Amino acid sequence: MAKVTFDEERCKGCRLCTSVCPKNIVVIKEDILNSRGYHPAGVTDMEKCIGCAFCAVMCPDCAITVER
Ligand code: SF4
Ligand code: SF4
Repeated sequence: MAKVTFDEERCKGCRLCTSVCPKNIVVIKEDILNSRGYHPAGVTDMEKCIGCAFCAVMCPDCAITVER
């Protein structure tokens, strides 16, 4: 199973990663605020991740790491 980690402090909540995930498991965590005042992205259901890394490639802030 792939593992996706988000650097929540780097994330600016732009939602680009949420739009490219083919499994629709990347969401904005509306209940969390980082120190810059943004809601960071995260994965809801890691078991469904196929490790395609589309999310990581799309992130303009290099906040996502995908391990396969
Ligand atoms: S690696 Fe692919 S399937 Fe997994 S969360 Fe990122 S975009 Fe979605
Ligand atoms: S693309 Fe990067 S900066 Fe934008 S919401 Fe996703 S993790 Fe955050």
